Amino acid sequence: MNFTPYKRLTHILTATLVCLIAASCAKDAGLMKSTRVIMGTYVTITVNREGLTDDKAREAVAAAYAEVERVDRLMSTYKPESDLSKVNKEAGIRPVKVDPEVVDCVARALGIAMATDGSFDPTVGPLVRLWGVGSDHAKVPAEYEIRASLARVDYRKVVVDKPASTVFIKDKAMGLDLGGIAKGYASDLAVAALKRRGVKGAIVACAGDIRLFGVREGGAPWRVGVQHPRDKAALLTELDLTDGAVSTSGDYERFFIKDGVVYHHIMDPRTGGPARGLVSVTILAREAWLADSLATGLFVLGPERALAYARAHPEIEVLMVGLDGKLMATGRFDKLGLPAVVKVGPLGQM
Ligand code: ADP
Ligand code: MG
Repeated sequence: MNFTPYKRLTHILTATLVCLIAASCAKDAGLMKSTRVIMGTYVTITVNREGLTDDKAREAVAAAYAEVERVDRLMSTYKPESDLSKVNKEAGIRPVKVDPEVVDCVARALGIAMATDGSFDPTVGPLVRLWGVGSDHAKVPAEYEIRASLARVDYRKVVVDKPASTVFIKDKAMGLDLGGIAKGYASDLAVAALKRRGVKGAIVACAGDIRLFGVREGGAPWRVGVQHPRDKAALLTELDLTDGAVSTSGDYERFFIKDGVVYHHIMDPRTGGPARGLVSVTILAREAWLADSLATGLFVLGPERALAYARAHPEIEVLMVGLDGKLMATGRFDKLGLPAVVKVGPLGQM
């Protein structure tokens, strides 16, 4: 995964503090809320502990965090011993036997790559590293560097063999990076662990990749906010949900500004630079791996093709903000009575 371990530590600490304060309040209300730093980001789990003893609720939450840690151990590109790092090391040489969940996650990533015509591409790592958005070596690369990196991005050169439980990258210059899907995938596994332990409602949020099920204490649905892309303190909208997953990809999450131009972290594998068609994409889906990867994929597809995709796939619902602030919505988002346009001034000046 492409998570920077030291990323936004102060934010993490602040968020943790806020969550800890919230946790003590929330506990009385029948919720158990906690946050941990895993995969270089913060993971928050909120559990409705009705019907469970304190011990059982704690055990369930610990099992859910263990799932997120397992995904990190298996799929981090920062850990040389991870299954994914082994696959990358053997690129161009041989297929590598990996945990079935790594095979499963890579297969899902390739499925989304195909469905989005390569807009989502799990081999995008060379471009991500070249631009270094969010790191201390962020730069606008030269054209020849972009061309060289682009030559190493092609999801069609990844071969998954499910029965053999292997993953093979055909080109030795290439590698897999599951940064655009693994947080969602981890949220799904964490939710499965909670359900297995009798929890009747919870929200798992791996950074912004959220999966939830069941009800809050007292039987109310969970409320999920969609952040305004230019105002951290404001929400575009809120949804009441009892099942599903919500993910947002936006140009404001990680970016740098050079000579007045904003460069963000979502790469367009056709141009080799930041995708330019949208400000943000929010996806509502049944599972978080799908919401996570499609938020990135549709962001890259751009407004027209993304909207066409959403209309052809009613199992997902989308809310998109265009470069001009125009809202585009399908499904439930379209029925919320949202304004036609929101204000989207330039980044870094708000
Ligand atoms: P975040 O990581 O901030 O939650 P996203 O879920 O949108 O944001 O995922 C962005 C991450 O996905 C990038 O940091 C990078 O690792 C990876 N990525 C960037 N562009 C693409 C792409 N076109 N296809 C697949 N993954 C991508
Ligand atoms: Mg995503």
